[in-house]
Amino acid sequence: MPVEHLATRQHVLAMCRTMLERGYLKATEGNVSVRVPGHRLYAVTPSNYSYDRMRVEDVCIVDFDGNHVPDADRAGAALAPSIECGMHANIYRARPDVHAIVHTHQPYASALAVLRRPIPALTDEQVRFLGREVAIIDYAPSGTGLLARHVQKKITSGDNAFILANHGIVAVGTDPERAVFNMALLEKVSIAYLMALATESGKVYTIPTAIREVAFARLRSDEKRIAAQITKSVPPQQVPDAVPLPSADRAALEVVAAREAFAGAGPVAPAEAPGAESARLGYAISAYPDVEDTMARLRALVDQPLRGLRQDALNDVLEWFDTKCSGSRQLTERAKSRIPGGVQHNLAFNHPFPLAIDRADGAHLTDRDGNVYIDFLQAGGPTLLGSNYGPVNDQVAQVVRASGPVTGLFHEYELKLADSIHRFMPHVEMYRALGSGTEAVMAAVRAARAHTGHKVVIKVGGAYHGWSDTLVYGLRVPGTFRMNAKGIPFGATSATREAFPHDLGALRRKLIENRLRGGTAAVLVEPLGPESGTRPVPEDFNARVRELCDEFGALLIFDEVVTGFRVGMGGAAGYFGVTPDLTVLGKAVSGGYPMAGGVGGREDVMAVFGSGLDGKSGAHVQVGGTLSANPLSCAAGYFAIEEMARTNAPVVAGRAGDRLAAGLQRLVGKHALPYVVYNQGSIVHLECSGVMLLDMHNPVKLFKENKPRKQLMEQMGAAYTANGIITLAGSRLYTSMADTDAVIDDALERFDRVFSMVDGV
Ligand code: PMP
Repeated sequence: MPVEHLATRQHVLAMCRTMLERGYLKATEGNVSVRVPGHRLYAVTPSNYSYDRMRVEDVCIVDFDGNHVPDADRAGAALAPSIECGMHANIYRARPDVHAIVHTHQPYASALAVLRRPIPALTDEQVRFLGREVAIIDYAPSGTGLLARHVQKKITSGDNAFILANHGIVAVGTDPERAVFNMALLEKVSIAYLMALATESGKVYTIPTAIREVAFARLRSDEKRIAAQITKSVPPQQVPDAVPLPSADRAALEVVAAREAFAGAGPVAPAEAPGAESARLGYAISAYPDVEDTMARLRALVDQPLRGLRQDALNDVLEWFDTKCSGSRQLTERAKSRIPGGVQHNLAFNHPFPLAIDRADGAHLTDRDGNVYIDFLQAGGPTLLGSNYGPVNDQVAQVVRASGPVTGLFHEYELKLADSIHRFMPHVEMYRALGSGTEAVMAAVRAARAHTGHKVVIKVGGAYHGWSDTLVYGLRVPGTFRMNAKGIPFGATSATREAFPHDLGALRRKLIENRLRGGTAAVLVEPLGPESGTRPVPEDFNARVRELCDEFGALLIFDEVVTGFRVGMGGAAGYFGVTPDLTVLGKAVSGGYPMAGGVGGREDVMAVFGSGLDGKSGAHVQVGGTLSANPLSCAAGYFAIEEMARTNAPVVAGRAGDRLAAGLQRLVGKHALPYVVYNQGSIVHLECSGVMLLDMHNPVKLFKENKPRKQLMEQMGAAYTANGIITLAGSRLYTSMADTDAVIDDALERFDRVFSMVDGV
């Protein structure tokens, strides 16, 4: 049964159940229907069928022309739809804001119809939800076209409840709950009105017209807004059960076969030009996401009400932490007195409290209490080979035994690392190793300013480039400028600008403006889109930015802290075929070992980094670090990169990401959830709250919904954890080469469990 039909049918069933429980209905009287969002279809109760016995498959799907359209699997085919279908279709046609209809036979309706007295505006609540008055619709026999036409004529008034003379009532709503509520409210005001009429004076006080009009106008505008949101909702992505999921295991076997074939081509492996090996190994992204479709889904998610865990499930999650993680809790509780906030790492999930991890191995983490988790945080991205990867550890240990972790002098692995990076990313002609992604971004910006003589750097709103003074600007939420810049003086960000994601027009305007204000030194982008593709960029975006940079004489800096090696050995630059002037690397560049960061690029730009005691004071930009480019980090980076290429870890991890994303899409469809899942290789996005999609285009929504949506993301993250899955902030999942098909399938079973605990599933 198509999922959108399933969800709509379930709504019909839920309405019937509520009405039975509250005694609004008996046996076979009346009928209810719910519109299928985005289609000219609705689901309606069958004709003359007891509400007690109703099952999902009994609910009929009918089109606006009155045709009964059972699903291909014959669901909804056994019974005929209600004879009042014509009336329902006419209402849906005339009122796009109506998504659910209730029609019942009630004695008070007959009493009012006999008196021929529509119910005037008696209470605020009535006007607010039912409309200006409750009109009486002229009698026509049940199930006839005449009745349908009578109803259609009145319904265009915008009112939400009517009395059908000698028949019953009709109440409509923007959603099923609202329709049932309106029906109940109609009963309340009907009885109050009948009572008033029955008093001795028979006098009824109504709300003055001016006040009534204000309330009515609010009703209409609210309904239009809600209706627009519901109609905008998109059907879930379909991943049929019969279609096999992509396989990381198969990719790993193909890598071995390809390696053997390549080595077998001659006695010595053929020499390849820089970059050729990356192209031969391929990229982690098997199909670029349909960005328009993904953005439409994300917008629909943000427009909809929140869908979180049921209260009982939420209680179970918290109880799990309480009973199973006492060791973590005690330790991190104690840490609060020595460590601000009790936890040092920004990505350490701390709802309801942080976990203390004792062991990491491949795809799994084990906490202080012995709980084992599938690890999709992957330390925030660096461990593409899997955590605690033995072959690299062993090589690094040998280097450390020989030279210790640091000498402060040159070590061969500095050159080996730079050579290796150049081999896979030929545009990194020279490389300077630094302490972290943050430091490397700082260095890149400084180099761009020194090289161009221009001041301004433009970043994309929402992107993260570390925590330097210059770039804590427009962080996470596009359009928020210095919102997170506590402790940073204005001067530090005075030459930083942000452009809205994907908005090339805005970027061009900024470049034009900057001509008069010191020129643009660089445009800095995360090449997959802000926050590692949380708003994925259109496929040609980077190429367009490159053109703009060339037109305005600005350097293009790719922040490949996440994407470097993860998207493929050639990085995002190789994948998109766009060459930046400078590239910032981090994370995977030291294989999960410390001091993960460096900047590389065009030789003439990199020349500004000359170091050592060359005597030419002022000729170079100042960068440094006692521990930068130490033998431990450089050797770790070198061995990790060689090993990533040998195993083609980016592609294998990418297929694991494909399997995880397709499996999650299937689950989201199965449970008819509005969540959005997509992946760019081994970066998998699972948006359940859409908080990252709020922005300053709609500040009221941002300030109203930021907190509850963030809380939902944390709540889901905690539920994943309690079911043995560690995510990045409950919304992002990094896969690694250690994620075999068995690991992903295990994870999918766990996600299935969590999704089945969501409210309304
Ligand atoms: N740039 C990007 C795109 C990042 O994702 C990060 C870290 N998450 C950084 C820069 C900063 O790197 P680091 O944490 O090593 O300072």
